[in-house]
Amino acid sequence: MQVTSKLPSTGISIFTVMSELAAKHGAVNLGQGFPDFDMPQDLVELVAAAMRNGHNQYTHMNGYLPLREAIASKVHTLYGTQVSAGTDIIVTPGGTYAIYTALTTILQKGDEVIVFEPCYDSYIPNIEINGAVAVTIPLQFPSYFIPWDLVRERITDRTKCIMINSPHNPTGTVLSKNDIEQLRDIVEGTNIIILSDEVYEHLIYDGIEHQSILRYPDLLARSFVCFSFGKTYHATGWKLGYCIGDTGLMEAYRKVHQFNAFCADTPKQVALATYMENKDAYLQLGAQMQVKRDYFRNLMKATPLQCLPSSGSYFECYSYATISDASDTDFAMKLIQEYGVATIPVSAFYKNKTDNKVIRFCFAKKEETLKRALEKLASLQ
Ligand code: PMP
Ligand code: GLN
Repeated sequence: MQVTSKLPSTGISIFTVMSELAAKHGAVNLGQGFPDFDMPQDLVELVAAAMRNGHNQYTHMNGYLPLREAIASKVHTLYGTQVSAGTDIIVTPGGTYAIYTALTTILQKGDEVIVFEPCYDSYIPNIEINGAVAVTIPLQFPSYFIPWDLVRERITDRTKCIMINSPHNPTGTVLSKNDIEQLRDIVEGTNIIILSDEVYEHLIYDGIEHQSILRYPDLLARSFVCFSFGKTYHATGWKLGYCIGDTGLMEAYRKVHQFNAFCADTPKQVALATYMENKDAYLQLGAQMQVKRDYFRNLMKATPLQCLPSSGSYFECYSYATISDASDTDFAMKLIQEYGVATIPVSAFYKNKTDNKVIRFCFAKKEETLKRALEKLASLQ
């Protein structure tokens, strides 16, 4: 049967494409972003206990209340802001769903959403499936800073939302206080909603402080802020996240969420409500992952690839411009087929496939995996 697609120009996600190719060629997979090391086993035990203890039915549509309370308490401790577990938090089946639901809640046909590219691959299809228009603004290559003057020029009376993502996928860059001030200056006195994707909130390095929108109550009053337990607890297959937002915005969000997933997985929420008492698990994450980042960065110095600036997420981008004129897709194919290492070509994160000759590596891997990948890249020139 044929059907008219709502996403006619969208193909299969680059993450699936590259992971399938990695499997086909037996390549070390530094493409799709997921850890290859175990998640905390005590958290696994808590889920098993929750299931044994009968927490196997629907939970509250907003999320298991003790978990929402734990999230509110974490937000207060980390960012000094009081959010209501009753009205301002909804636990979702993943961060991607949290973002999709926010966009579906607010977008009307013809609305414009400002999106910085490169961006996580779900954003633009999520906007377009809602009949809205993605107004794309390229981050300045190679620093990947936001060109705020250009943002000012692209605002119109149809601008419904600005999407930000820090730490950033795919570049690993991090927004500064100055970026937040620029954003504030732009949205002040408008009805523009901010959608802040903060799934990598704890994966931040080099002593930098995460500039969460949750630190800024005046901005939170016009925002949805999205998170993923998958990233924080090395459990991307859990597909569990949450959205925090202004009370009025979340009231509208709930109307969409209740007729889509209704609620997220119960036993994991019960387990996390207890596990979140262990603050070290997330407070030490940045330091732990920085060790991997530094290990990977050091190994990469032996290759002719050039590291682009980054201080967060579990990705690093590298330029191969000094050694090849090939397109980034062809270069990534060559790395898989001839060297046995899978990466992601960064053009996949641009609607018009801008090719700056950059590929993305995921370093959330065991040291032995990173070492094996770099052994394979040793002859690259
Ligand atoms: N945003 C970004 C930038 C991401 O990289 C991811 C990871 N896939 C997500 C959101 C969503 O995470 P998930 O749906 O796996 O919880
Ligand atoms: N966030 C991960 C990445 O950027 C993967 C997401 C996915 O597979 N959908 O690689």
